[in-house]
Order: sequence, then C-alpha cells, then structure tokens
Amino acid sequence: MSRAYDAVLMHPPAIFDANERPRFFGPMARTVEEGTEQLIIPSIGLFSIADYLDRNGFRVAIDNIGARVVADKSFELAKYIDTINARVCGISLHWLAHAHGAIYLAKLCKEKHPDSIIVLGGLTATIFHYEIISKYKFIDLVIRGEGEEPFLALMKSVDASRLSTGIPGSTWRRDDKIVVEPSAPSLKDLDEYEFTRIDLVQPGHWFFPTGGSPDVPYWQLPVSRGCSYNCATCGGSSYSYKRYLERNRPTFRSPAKLVEDLRRLREQGVRAVFLFQDPRMGGRRYWEGLLGEFKREGIAVDHITMELFMPADEDYIGRISQLDVSVSLTISPESGSEEVRRRQGRYYSNESLFRTVSICRKYDLPLLVFFMVALGYEDQMTIHETWRVWEKIHSVQRGLGGVGFGPMIVLDPGSRAFDDPRAHGYRIVYKNLEDHVKAFSLPSWHQWLNYETVKLDRRMVANLILDSLERSIHIREKYGIYDRTTAFRERFLVRLNRLILSEVDSAMSLDEGAREAKIADIYDRVKGYIDKVDSGKRACARATVARGIEGMPNGRPTPSGPAAPPRSRAISAPSPRPGSARPLSPPGCP
Ligand code: SF4
Repeated sequence: MSRAYDAVLMHPPAIFDANERPRFFGPMARTVEEGTEQLIIPSIGLFSIADYLDRNGFRVAIDNIGARVVADKSFELAKYIDTINARVCGISLHWLAHAHGAIYLAKLCKEKHPDSIIVLGGLTATIFHYEIISKYKFIDLVIRGEGEEPFLALMKSVDASRLSTGIPGSTWRRDDKIVVEPSAPSLKDLDEYEFTRIDLVQPGHWFFPTGGSPDVPYWQLPVSRGCSYNCATCGGSSYSYKRYLERNRPTFRSPAKLVEDLRRLREQGVRAVFLFQDPRMGGRRYWEGLLGEFKREGIAVDHITMELFMPADEDYIGRISQLDVSVSLTISPESGSEEVRRRQGRYYSNESLFRTVSICRKYDLPLLVFFMVALGYEDQMTIHETWRVWEKIHSVQRGLGGVGFGPMIVLDPGSRAFDDPRAHGYRIVYKNLEDHVKAFSLPSWHQWLNYETVKLDRRMVANLILDSLERSIHIREKYGIYDRTTAFRERFLVRLNRLILSEVDSAMSLDEGAREAKIADIYDRVKGYIDKVDSGKRACARATVARGIEGMPNGRPTPSGPAAPPRSRAISAPSPRPGSARPLSPPGCP
C-alpha cells in the first residue's frame, strides 16, 4: 500500500464529539483563552519529534485536529481521518484535559486505518501507559517520557506495520501480553533539537493563536526542558520529571541557539515569541549570558514574552528592559493568600510580588500576573485575600500589564498533588484514565473537575470559580478594562453559567432518555448566547486554519510542504507548555 506519510502527529481536541453533542464548557477556556475551550495549542514536543523524524528521512506532518474542529463546527472528522495516509498515526496525550479527544481520535484512526500503527505519547500517556495498552486495544504502543529518540527508533523498526521489540521507552502489546521496555534516557543537549519547524504543521503555516486582533503570527520556544521547582499540582515539576521522565535536572538551550531560532522563526513570518521557562533557573551565569547574547546579536522578532517563576529584582528586570525589542513578562503567584501559595509550593510573599509589579511599572514592562482559584486549603477567607491582591496589582500597574485567572479543572497526573493528594489539601475524584474519559463524556465542565479540596467539594469549587469570575468583572470595570457593556455581557454569562450548572445537575437525576432530552433542551435554549461568545475564538482558529487551507488542496496533509528551514540539529519530547505541563495553566508559572 502506498503511503503519503510515514508518520502524522496529531494534536486532538479536548472533547472529541463536542460539535455533535451538547457540551457546556463554561470557563474552561478562561485559563489560556487563545487555546479556546478545545485547548488547541499543541505541546511543543510535537514539533521537535516531527523535525527529528523529517531530518532522519521520514515523511512527517503535524496535524492540529483540535484547531480544525474549532474552526468549523460542521467539520467532518471521520471523513477527514479517512483521507490521512500514514504508516504511523501519533496522537498527543500530553495534557490530561485531552484524554477524551485523544482516546476517541485513536479509536477513529484505527477504524479507518487498521493497518496503521496507532501511538500515544506525552506526559499523560506516560503516566497511564499500562492502563492505555491494557484497556484500549486500538492503541498499539505508548511512548513514555521524552519522545524524540523513541519515536525515531519506532519509525526505524516499523516493518510492514508490525511492531518489534527494543524500542526504548515504549509500552506495547505482544500476543496479548503487555511489554514495558526500559525507559529512554532524557536528552542531554537540547540544542540538537529543533522547535521551529512551522513548515511541518497542517493546516499549513499554522501559528500559535494569540487570540488578538489582528492575529499576530506567534510562536513558542522553550528556554529549557525540565524544572527546578516543585509546584504541587504541576506535572512538569522537578518531582514529576524525576519520577516519570528520567530527568534529574533541567537542560538549558544555549543562548546562541535561541538567537538562531528567533531568526529562523522571523524568516517564516513569526513576529512574537513566548520564551517559556524562567532563564534564572539556569543560574546567574546562564541568564546573564542569554540576555548578553540577545543584546549583542539582536532579537529577530518584534516582541518576546518571558516567564518569571519567582519575583524578580531590579537588576534582572532592568537588564531585560535594555533589550532592543518589546518585552512583556508573566508571573503566576497562583493565590493571593501566602499560605495557599506556600502549600502550592511557591515560597514568596505578597510584598515581594508587589515589589516586582512596581519594578516592572518603573521600567515600563507589561507584567501579566496570573492566579488560579479553588486550590488546596482554599476557603472563603483566602479567596477574599486573592481578590484584594488583584485590586492592589491593578492599582500599582495603572493599566500596564494585567491580572488574569483561570480554573484548574484537572490536577495534572504525575504531580505531587495527584500522587499524594491528602498531603496537599486535595482529594482526587477520577483516578485512572478511563474515569477521566468517561467524565469528559458528561455534558458540563463542572462534572469534569477531577478534584475536590479538603475544604471545598466539587460544587463549591465550581461556585468559587464563578464567584471569582464575577469579582474579576467588577474589578475590570472599576479599573477601566471593561466598559459597561462588556461588563454587563460578562456578568450575564456568569449568571447563565450558574443556571446551566443547576439545570444540568437536575437533569442528571433523570433516566437516560429523559436526561438526554433535557440536556439537549438546555443546550438549545442557551446555544445562541454561547455561539456569540464563541464566535471570536472560532474566528481566530479559523484564521489559522485558513492560512493552511489556502495553499493546500482540501487542507489535507500533502507529501511536500513549503520549503523546510535550514536544517539544524535534532529534536525533543513531551515538553511542558508555557510554564507548566498543564494545558490549563497560564502563560507564566509561579
Ligand atoms: S508550575 Fe512552572 S515553576 Fe512550577 S513546577 Fe511547574 S513548570 Fe515549574
């Protein structure tokens, strides 16, 4: 059988059938708004794996299925998968929130292409590798840990669509027995791997969405892989990397390589780049070297965003402000309560946070300060502390920067809190992958929450998220970020969400037929409002998808894409997204 591709690497939607069945996403998109409620931003590891395979002579494409689903509500996924012709279908299951999308996409790929090998990889797939191979017979193999070398070994060994032994870091099925191969070592030199291969992405010339208008071509680049910190709910923490990903310490990319990457991205049309992970983790010598290289060589794009994993002093912020490019910063204290923050694993005071905000103001650097709500040990008192901190930040920033917040929805598997919830103030509701897939089949976001806390049950968690939304609308209106009309619309949506929650809860007590009818009825009644809110995001996704479809028959993967950028060195693996391994985490960590 002739094949157009050796491997197609797919980023799934979060919810596989959201265009066919009623789903109430509520504030799910709130944490990373540009990712939309279907979380269409792929893990950066997909790019390095694709490049590595390409440079080793395999025909490969990355296909953002999630973006296609969001861009077009009538997109026929089954028909589309029919058109894919690849020996190996690799599906990213990095973030747990994609559990439903990844598993059903894998099932569909196997139904349509029984001779293709279906592979899952990423952090979540790594944690649940044994369960995946035990329960889902349509998945042939899971790649655990950092994926570049194992995926290449897989491609080299696949013969006539049959798997063979010895692929490091793989878990697979041989004659109904599960084989867990020894882990692959973590990568030692990240400069060997390439994160800038926009040409390999389908829809072609897909950029990361910014959610802005106009949509500036935007990309993300890792400064390092791994983390020195140990935030309790993060699957990209030092603990998680050590325990599950064979990585004992972060590896940093060289300043020269980052400068080269920025040039390469500019050549492909990128104007803004999010450099994720805090360079200060590499020590003073590293960050001074990086900023020195940026200053000497120049930054080829118009804007960069950098992360602060901890508050920063004037020395660091002052030097960043001297770069000859527009820069913004992000920091995520998570909670305004020092006690809740400390229990999350972030050890700094509000005083040092406000000092950082003031220094950024002094140097005219926009700073986004990001919070989560309903964390371990959170209660009414701590949430009020958080709200007070939001106001104070706004009053110091005076319009430069902003305050964001989002719900957590799921605790990362592999995080300290997931592995030992009681010690961190949590209770896990769904423990294995199958539980999560079933939960994401339920109609509403509040049923997808995979945790409670020692102080809040799930309904209280959902209410606290909505209360915080209302509070943030009030503050945004007060500080002139929302006009009255916007504030009115946002308040209306919160009230609508409260109503949906109680209507869905009451529907759940009905028998199956009546329940489905009632859910469909609720959906029909609120759909018009939801569509209006979604339309901006869908337009944004459509713009990125359209860019690809323009130059590509049927918007399908084609064997030859645009010219590849100059080849550099090799690839990478399941890597944490901006700031953490959570899909639902903000661009900006601690
Ligand atoms: S949340 Fe960010 S700083 Fe904290 S452990 Fe995760 S990657 Fe590291």
